[in-house]
Amino acid sequence: SRIVSGFSKENENLLETNLRPKVLEEYIGQSKVKEKMRIFIEAAKARGEALDHVLLYGPPGLGKTTLSYIIANEMNVNIRITSGPAIERPGDLAALLTNMSEGDVLFIDEIHRLNASVEEVLYPAMEDYALDIIIGKGPSARSLRIDLPKFTLVGATTRAGMLTSPLRDRFGVINRLELYTDEELKIIVTRSAGILGISIDDGGALEIARRSRGTPRIANRLLRRIRDYAEVRAEGKITQEVADAGLKMLEVDKMGLDNVDRNMLRVMIEMFGGGPVGLDTIAAATGEESNTIEDVYEPYLMQLGYIMRTPRGRMVTQAAYDHLGIKKTDKKES
Ligand code: ADP
Repeated sequence: SRIVSGFSKENENLLETNLRPKVLEEYIGQSKVKEKMRIFIEAAKARGEALDHVLLYGPPGLGKTTLSYIIANEMNVNIRITSGPAIERPGDLAALLTNMSEGDVLFIDEIHRLNASVEEVLYPAMEDYALDIIIGKGPSARSLRIDLPKFTLVGATTRAGMLTSPLRDRFGVINRLELYTDEELKIIVTRSAGILGISIDDGGALEIARRSRGTPRIANRLLRRIRDYAEVRAEGKITQEVADAGLKMLEVDKMGLDNVDRNMLRVMIEMFGGGPVGLDTIAAATGEESNTIEDVYEPYLMQLGYIMRTPRGRMVTQAAYDHLGIKKTDKKES
């Protein structure tokens, strides 16, 4: 389990609940998404209608779940939380949908993992607010249509491209969440420290922000670990020096990379001359899943400019060589 992974850990859920902003106003960053959502929410409320279905995509830990809670809160409706793999049969989806009230939000995390039979039932539910259920078997089977309350589906996925196009087409609003800037993460760290009663100064907050891979979940996780360090070694106050020492101990480097990232870059350099090398080859050589590399590791390494995508595969850039302190040798002609 990597400390710099954007994925949530079981025991973190409760802690995260306390740190989640409740209204759009408190949701830091993502200004384009926020502005759009503010307008759509206001318009739907003024018409007394349910909000159109919303798709949120982006790497884990960027605030998709948080934003769906906020949408429900701003619309003054209830929210139900589930995930693609949790809805095993069409009947599970029917049970969820028939228990909702007018305007409620259904949040489906990892929506790309819905199975095909459930997806089929979801189409008319999204489009016509109706369920077509088949009752009985063989010649006596007949289809029954059940009307549903007008609900809002909020779907979350790491990549929009993983959705089938009929499903993607049924979302009226599609939002891509971006990695956060250091300044935005600094505000998030400072806010979380306030809620958790941790003493931190500007330098300390910025140091944690810089090393959090553009991801609020990671920033909050590092903050809690650095608090432990500060309490034992520095009388509880997080300054830039304390944050730096604590992060060094956690083996998170100046740019927020850990051993897994550095190993991946090294493998690309040492085994493949820095690339271009295909995604599946990198996955096989490092023992990581290609999906995880593409959705979780790569976005940040590309944002740093350490990896480039080319039509022939991934390439390590000069900046990555510099960061690792490896000298680039010219490829020999063979
Ligand atoms: P995702 O669903 O994309 O994996 P979450 O919504 O669970 O991510 O966010 C992870 C944590 O990061 C939340 O508990 C929340 O405290 C924090 N967070 C996410 N986005 C923001 C934001 N825009 N402003 C403040 N905190 C945020």
